[in-house]
Amino acid sequence: MLAYRLLKGQTQPEFQEVPEPHAGPGQVVVRVAGSGLCHTDFTVIGREQSYWHNDAPPFTLGHEIAGWVEELGSGVKGFQRGDAVAVNPSWASCGRCHMCRSGEENFCLYQTAIRAPGVGYDGGHAPYVLVPAARFLVPIGDLNPVDAAPLTDAGLTTYTAIKSALPVIYPGSTTVVIGVGGLGLYAIQFLRQLTGARVVAVDSSEARLKLAREYGADNALQSGPNVADEIREITSGIGAAFVLDCVGVNETLATGVSVLSWRGRLAMVGAGGGSIPFDFFKEAPGAQLVTSLNGGGVALKEVVDMAALGRIKNLLDRYPLSSVKQAYEDFKQGHLAGRAVLIPEASAAHAA
Ligand SMILES: [Zn+2]
Ligand SMILES: [Zn+2]
Repeated sequence: MLAYRLLKGQTQPEFQEVPEPHAGPGQVVVRVAGSGLCHTDFTVIGREQSYWHNDAPPFTLGHEIAGWVEELGSGVKGFQRGDAVAVNPSWASCGRCHMCRSGEENFCLYQTAIRAPGVGYDGGHAPYVLVPAARFLVPIGDLNPVDAAPLTDAGLTTYTAIKSALPVIYPGSTTVVIGVGGLGLYAIQFLRQLTGARVVAVDSSEARLKLAREYGADNALQSGPNVADEIREITSGIGAAFVLDCVGVNETLATGVSVLSWRGRLAMVGAGGGSIPFDFFKEAPGAQLVTSLNGGGVALKEVVDMAALGRIKNLLDRYPLSSVKQAYEDFKQGHLAGRAVLIPEASAAHAA
Protein backbone atom coordinates (compact mmCIF):
# COMPACT_ATOMS: atom_id res chain seq x y z
CA MET A 1 0.00 0.00 0.00
CA LEU A 2 1.04 3.61 -0.49
CA ALA A 3 1.64 5.41 2.81
CA TYR A 4 2.64 9.03 3.39
CA ARG A 5 5.80 8.76 5.45
CA LEU A 6 8.46 10.78 7.15
CA LEU A 7 11.55 9.00 5.86
CA LYS A 8 14.09 10.97 7.88
CA GLY A 9 13.95 13.79 10.41
CA GLN A 10 13.70 17.31 8.94
CA THR A 11 12.94 16.13 5.40
CA GLN A 12 9.80 16.51 3.29
CA PRO A 13 7.55 13.43 3.84
CA GLU A 14 6.84 11.27 0.80
CA PHE A 15 4.63 8.48 -0.41
CA GLN A 16 6.33 5.13 -0.02
CA GLU A 17 5.16 1.64 -0.93
CA VAL A 18 5.00 -0.47 2.25
CA PRO A 19 3.50 -3.91 2.97
CA GLU A 20 -0.09 -3.99 4.22
CA PRO A 21 -0.01 -4.67 7.98
CA HIS A 22 -1.27 -7.87 9.60
CA ALA A 23 -2.48 -8.23 13.16
CA GLY A 24 -0.32 -10.17 15.61
CA PRO A 25 -1.63 -11.41 18.98
CA GLY A 26 -3.71 -8.70 20.69
CA GLN A 27 -3.38 -6.33 17.73
CA VAL A 28 -5.96 -5.00 15.29
CA VAL A 29 -5.64 -3.76 11.72
CA VAL A 30 -7.95 -0.82 11.01
CA ARG A 31 -9.01 0.21 7.52
CA VAL A 32 -8.55 3.97 7.64
CA ALA A 33 -11.70 5.98 6.85
CA GLY A 34 -10.19 9.31 7.80
CA SER A 35 -6.83 10.57 9.06
CA GLY A 36 -6.66 14.12 10.37
CA LEU A 37 -3.95 16.73 9.92
CA CYS A 38 -2.63 18.46 13.02
CA HIS A 39 -0.15 21.23 13.82
CA THR A 40 1.83 18.59 15.69
CA ASP A 41 2.69 17.03 12.33
CA PHE A 42 4.85 20.06 11.48
CA THR A 43 6.67 19.65 14.80
CA VAL A 44 7.16 15.94 14.09
CA ILE A 45 8.54 16.65 10.62
CA GLY A 46 10.86 19.33 12.05
CA ARG A 47 12.52 17.08 14.65
CA GLU A 48 16.09 15.97 14.14
CA GLN A 49 16.56 12.28 13.41
CA SER A 50 18.47 11.87 16.70
CA TYR A 51 15.45 13.13 18.68
CA TRP A 52 13.57 9.89 18.08
CA HIS A 53 15.97 7.39 19.68
CA ASN A 54 14.40 3.94 19.15
CA ASP A 55 11.37 5.30 17.29
CA ALA A 56 13.23 7.06 14.51
CA PRO A 57 11.74 7.62 11.05
CA PRO A 58 10.81 6.18 8.64
CA PHE A 59 7.23 6.03 9.88
CA THR A 60 3.82 6.88 8.44
CA LEU A 61 2.34 10.21 9.58
CA GLY A 62 -1.16 10.80 10.94
CA HIS A 63 -2.40 10.52 14.55
CA GLU A 64 -6.12 11.38 14.23
CA ILE A 65 -7.54 8.11 12.98
CA ALA A 66 -10.90 6.41 12.65
CA GLY A 67 -12.07 3.61 10.40
CA TRP A 68 -13.31 0.04 10.41
CA VAL A 69 -11.86 -3.07 12.01
CA GLU A 70 -10.26 -5.03 9.17
CA GLU A 71 -8.32 -7.84 10.87
CA LEU A 72 -8.31 -9.08 14.47
CA GLY A 73 -5.22 -10.64 16.02
CA SER A 74 -5.51 -13.75 18.16
CA GLY A 75 -6.95 -13.14 21.61
CA VAL A 76 -8.79 -9.92 20.69
CA LYS A 77 -12.31 -9.94 22.06
CA GLY A 78 -15.20 -7.50 21.81
CA PHE A 79 -14.72 -6.42 18.21
CA GLN A 80 -15.78 -7.79 14.86
CA ARG A 81 -14.54 -7.16 11.36
CA GLY A 82 -16.34 -4.10 9.97
CA ASP A 83 -16.94 -2.40 13.33
CA ALA A 84 -16.53 1.38 13.09
CA VAL A 85 -13.89 2.56 15.57
CA ALA A 86 -11.97 5.64 16.63
CA VAL A 87 -8.33 5.20 17.63
CA ASN A 88 -7.06 6.51 20.95
CA PRO A 89 -3.53 7.66 20.01
CA SER A 90 -1.83 7.15 23.43
CA TRP A 91 0.05 4.13 22.18
CA ALA A 92 3.07 4.53 24.46
CA SER A 93 0.89 4.17 27.56
CA CYS A 94 1.46 1.15 29.80
CA GLY A 95 -2.17 0.17 30.46
CA ARG A 96 -1.46 -0.63 34.13
CA CYS A 97 -0.53 2.55 36.03
CA HIS A 98 -2.96 4.73 37.96
CA MET A 99 -3.53 7.11 35.04
CA CYS A 100 -4.07 4.33 32.51
CA ARG A 101 -6.50 2.53 34.83
CA SER A 102 -8.38 5.84 35.24
CA GLY A 103 -8.78 6.05 31.47
CA GLU A 104 -6.20 8.83 31.19
CA GLU A 105 -3.65 7.01 29.08
CA ASN A 106 -2.46 10.37 27.74
CA PHE A 107 -0.96 11.00 31.18
CA CYS A 108 0.52 7.50 31.63
CA LEU A 109 3.11 7.66 34.40
CA TYR A 110 5.52 5.39 32.56
CA GLN A 111 5.63 7.13 29.20
CA THR A 112 9.16 8.34 28.65
CA ALA A 113 8.35 10.39 25.53
CA ILE A 114 5.32 11.52 23.58
CA ARG A 115 4.62 8.77 21.13
CA ALA A 116 1.54 8.04 19.05
CA PRO A 117 0.59 6.79 15.61
CA GLY A 118 2.35 9.16 13.23
CA VAL A 119 4.64 10.20 16.09
CA GLY A 120 7.16 7.37 16.22
CA TYR A 121 4.70 4.63 15.21
CA ASP A 122 3.18 4.09 11.76
CA GLY A 123 0.09 6.30 11.63
CA GLY A 124 -3.06 6.81 9.61
CA HIS A 125 -1.98 8.53 6.39
CA ALA A 126 -2.35 5.17 4.64
CA PRO A 127 -5.16 2.77 3.66
CA TYR A 128 -4.51 0.60 6.76
CA VAL A 129 -2.99 1.09 10.19
CA LEU A 130 -1.80 -1.50 12.69
CA VAL A 131 -3.15 -0.69 16.15
CA PRO A 132 -0.84 -2.34 18.74
CA ALA A 133 -3.56 -3.23 21.26
CA ALA A 134 -7.35 -3.49 21.13
CA ARG A 135 -7.61 -1.24 24.22
CA PHE A 136 -6.85 1.72 21.93
CA LEU A 137 -10.08 1.22 19.97
CA VAL A 138 -13.27 3.04 20.89
CA PRO A 139 -16.46 1.81 19.17
CA ILE A 140 -18.31 4.67 17.47
CA GLY A 141 -21.55 2.96 16.43
CA ASP A 142 -23.30 4.79 13.60
CA LEU A 143 -21.07 7.86 13.72
CA ASN A 144 -19.34 8.41 10.37
CA PRO A 145 -15.68 7.48 10.98
CA VAL A 146 -14.55 10.37 8.77
CA ASP A 147 -16.23 12.69 11.27
CA ALA A 148 -14.74 10.73 14.17
CA ALA A 149 -11.12 11.09 13.00
CA PRO A 150 -10.50 14.68 14.17
CA LEU A 151 -12.36 13.94 17.39
CA THR A 152 -9.47 11.69 18.48
CA ASP A 153 -7.17 14.68 18.94
CA ALA A 154 -8.62 18.11 18.10
CA GLY A 155 -11.91 17.15 19.77
CA LEU A 156 -10.41 15.07 22.56
CA THR A 157 -7.76 17.62 23.50
CA THR A 158 -10.20 20.50 23.92
CA TYR A 159 -12.77 18.28 25.66
CA THR A 160 -10.19 17.03 28.17
CA ALA A 161 -8.91 20.53 28.97
CA ILE A 162 -12.48 21.77 29.49
CA LYS A 163 -13.73 18.77 31.45
CA SER A 164 -10.91 19.04 33.97
CA ALA A 165 -11.64 22.79 34.35
CA LEU A 166 -15.34 22.30 35.14
CA PRO A 167 -14.92 22.86 38.91
CA VAL A 168 -13.82 26.48 38.27
CA ILE A 169 -16.37 27.25 35.53
CA TYR A 170 -19.57 28.21 37.31
CA PRO A 171 -22.85 29.06 35.55
CA GLY A 172 -22.86 32.68 34.44
CA SER A 173 -19.07 32.94 34.54
CA THR A 174 -17.04 33.78 31.46
CA THR A 175 -14.83 31.50 29.42
CA VAL A 176 -12.48 32.57 26.66
CA VAL A 177 -11.29 30.54 23.68
CA ILE A 178 -8.22 32.03 22.05
CA GLY A 179 -7.77 30.83 18.47
CA VAL A 180 -10.79 29.65 16.50
CA GLY A 181 -9.20 27.06 14.22
CA GLY A 182 -9.77 23.31 14.22
CA LEU A 183 -9.46 23.10 18.03
CA GLY A 184 -11.27 26.31 18.91
CA LEU A 185 -14.49 25.39 17.12
CA TYR A 186 -14.71 22.20 19.17
CA ALA A 187 -13.88 24.11 22.35
CA ILE A 188 -16.73 26.58 21.84
CA GLN A 189 -19.19 23.71 21.40
CA PHE A 190 -17.96 21.76 24.44
CA LEU A 191 -18.17 24.88 26.60
CA ARG A 192 -21.73 25.43 25.42
CA GLN A 193 -22.66 21.80 26.07
CA LEU A 194 -20.90 21.28 29.41
CA THR A 195 -21.22 24.63 31.17
CA GLY A 196 -23.63 27.48 31.77
CA ALA A 197 -20.88 30.00 31.12
CA ARG A 198 -20.56 32.80 28.59
CA VAL A 199 -18.24 31.83 25.74
CA VAL A 200 -15.97 34.51 24.29
CA ALA A 201 -13.99 33.70 21.14
CA VAL A 202 -10.83 35.60 20.23
CA ASP A 203 -9.17 35.44 16.83
CA SER A 204 -7.44 37.69 14.31
CA SER A 205 -9.62 36.58 11.39
CA GLU A 206 -13.09 38.06 10.83
CA ALA A 207 -14.12 34.90 8.95
CA ARG A 208 -13.17 32.72 11.92
CA LEU A 209 -14.97 35.02 14.35
CA LYS A 210 -18.09 34.66 12.21
CA LEU A 211 -17.72 30.87 12.42
CA ALA A 212 -17.24 31.16 16.18
CA ARG A 213 -20.61 32.91 16.49
CA GLU A 214 -22.24 30.25 14.30
CA TYR A 215 -20.83 27.51 16.55
CA GLY A 216 -22.15 29.12 19.72
CA ALA A 217 -19.81 31.87 20.93
CA ASP A 218 -21.66 34.63 22.80
CA ASN A 219 -19.00 37.20 21.95
CA ALA A 220 -16.40 37.16 19.19
CA LEU A 221 -13.52 39.58 19.65
CA GLN A 222 -10.72 40.62 17.34
CA SER A 223 -7.35 39.78 18.92
CA GLY A 224 -5.01 42.69 19.55
CA PRO A 225 -3.86 45.08 22.26
CA ASN A 226 -7.42 45.97 23.34
CA VAL A 227 -8.86 42.50 23.71
CA ALA A 228 -7.97 42.09 27.40
CA ASP A 229 -9.76 45.37 28.23
CA GLU A 230 -12.78 44.28 26.20
CA ILE A 231 -12.98 41.02 28.16
CA ARG A 232 -12.71 42.95 31.44
CA GLU A 233 -15.51 45.19 30.27
CA ILE A 234 -17.80 42.32 29.25
CA THR A 235 -17.28 40.75 32.68
CA SER A 236 -17.73 43.97 34.68
CA GLY A 237 -14.11 43.80 35.69
CA ILE A 238 -14.24 40.26 37.10
CA GLY A 239 -12.34 38.55 34.32
CA ALA A 240 -12.59 35.02 32.98
CA ALA A 241 -13.05 31.89 35.06
CA PHE A 242 -11.45 29.86 32.30
CA VAL A 243 -9.25 30.59 29.29
CA LEU A 244 -8.39 27.99 26.69
CA ASP A 245 -5.34 29.01 24.70
CA CYS A 246 -5.43 27.09 21.42
CA VAL A 247 -2.47 29.03 20.04
CA GLY A 248 0.14 29.04 22.81
CA VAL A 249 2.45 31.87 21.78
CA ASN A 250 3.76 34.58 24.14
CA GLU A 251 1.10 37.11 23.15
CA THR A 252 -1.88 34.78 23.60
CA LEU A 253 -0.56 33.50 26.94
CA ALA A 254 -0.03 37.07 28.16
CA THR A 255 -3.57 38.02 27.15
CA GLY A 256 -5.00 34.87 28.69
CA VAL A 257 -3.26 35.18 32.06
CA SER A 258 -4.04 38.91 32.27
CA VAL A 259 -7.81 38.31 32.00
CA LEU A 260 -8.07 35.50 34.57
CA SER A 261 -10.43 36.11 37.44
CA TRP A 262 -9.54 35.12 40.98
CA ARG A 263 -9.17 31.34 41.00
CA GLY A 264 -9.42 31.36 37.23
CA ARG A 265 -7.70 28.71 35.15
CA LEU A 266 -5.80 28.96 31.90
CA ALA A 267 -5.30 25.74 29.96
CA MET A 268 -2.73 25.76 27.22
CA VAL A 269 -3.44 23.30 24.41
CA GLY A 270 -1.82 25.12 21.50
CA ALA A 271 1.80 24.12 21.14
CA GLY A 272 2.92 27.49 19.80
CA GLY A 273 6.15 27.43 21.80
CA GLY A 274 5.31 30.42 23.99
CA SER A 275 6.00 30.85 27.70
CA ILE A 276 5.08 33.28 30.43
CA PRO A 277 6.28 34.14 33.93
CA PHE A 278 3.76 33.19 36.59
CA ASP A 279 4.08 35.56 39.54
CA PHE A 280 2.64 34.98 43.02
CA PHE A 281 1.96 38.70 43.53
CA LYS A 282 0.96 39.70 40.00
CA GLU A 283 -1.47 36.96 38.97
CA ALA A 284 -5.03 36.73 40.20
CA PRO A 285 -5.03 34.92 43.56
CA GLY A 286 -5.65 31.22 43.13
CA ALA A 287 -5.03 31.41 39.39
CA GLN A 288 -4.06 28.14 37.74
CA LEU A 289 -1.95 27.63 34.66
CA VAL A 290 -2.00 24.15 33.14
CA THR A 291 -1.03 22.39 29.96
CA SER A 292 -3.22 19.71 28.48
CA LEU A 293 -2.31 17.18 25.85
CA ASN A 294 -4.79 14.95 24.03
CA GLY A 295 -6.96 12.78 26.27
CA GLY A 296 -7.68 9.22 27.35
CA GLY A 297 -9.99 6.46 26.20
CA VAL A 298 -12.81 7.33 28.60
CA ALA A 299 -12.94 10.92 27.38
CA LEU A 300 -12.73 9.77 23.77
CA LYS A 301 -15.79 7.56 24.32
CA GLU A 302 -17.63 10.57 25.75
CA VAL A 303 -16.62 12.76 22.82
CA VAL A 304 -17.73 10.29 20.15
CA ASP A 305 -20.99 9.65 22.00
CA MET A 306 -21.69 13.40 22.13
CA ALA A 307 -20.96 13.63 18.41
CA ALA A 308 -23.24 10.67 17.70
CA LEU A 309 -26.03 12.50 19.56
CA GLY A 310 -25.49 15.48 17.28
CA ARG A 311 -24.25 17.71 20.10
CA ILE A 312 -20.91 18.37 18.44
CA LYS A 313 -20.64 19.44 14.81
CA ASN A 314 -17.57 18.91 12.69
CA LEU A 315 -16.30 21.38 10.16
CA LEU A 316 -14.08 19.30 7.93
CA ASP A 317 -11.93 20.00 4.91
CA ARG A 318 -11.87 16.64 3.14
CA TYR A 319 -8.98 15.64 0.90
CA PRO A 320 -8.26 12.36 -0.87
CA LEU A 321 -5.12 10.78 0.62
CA SER A 322 -3.35 11.33 -2.72
CA SER A 323 -3.75 15.12 -2.20
CA VAL A 324 -1.98 15.09 1.15
CA LYS A 325 0.70 17.57 0.08
CA GLN A 326 -1.95 20.07 -1.00
CA ALA A 327 -3.76 19.55 2.31
CA TYR A 328 -0.64 20.37 4.34
CA GLU A 329 0.05 23.36 2.12
CA ASP A 330 -3.49 24.71 2.62
CA PHE A 331 -3.10 24.09 6.36
CA LYS A 332 0.21 25.95 6.48
CA GLN A 333 -1.21 28.88 4.49
CA GLY A 334 -4.20 29.18 6.80
CA HIS A 335 -6.68 28.27 4.05
CA LEU A 336 -8.61 25.63 6.00
CA ALA A 337 -12.02 26.45 7.40
CA GLY A 338 -12.02 23.60 9.93
CA ARG A 339 -10.02 20.43 10.36
CA ALA A 340 -8.43 18.70 7.38
CA VAL A 341 -9.07 14.97 7.02
CA LEU A 342 -7.44 12.66 4.49
CA ILE A 343 -9.62 9.96 3.00
CA PRO A 344 -7.88 6.99 1.36
CA GLU A 345 -9.41 6.48 -2.10
CA ALA A 346 -10.20 2.81 -1.47
CA SER A 347 -11.98 3.68 1.78
CA ALA A 348 -14.15 6.27 0.06
CA ALA A 349 -15.30 3.48 -2.25
CA HIS A 350 -15.72 1.15 0.74
CA ALA A 351 -17.97 3.61 2.56
CA ALA A 352 -20.14 4.29 -0.51
ZN1 LIG B 1 -2.51 16.47 17.13
ZN1 LIG C 1 0.27 3.90 32.30
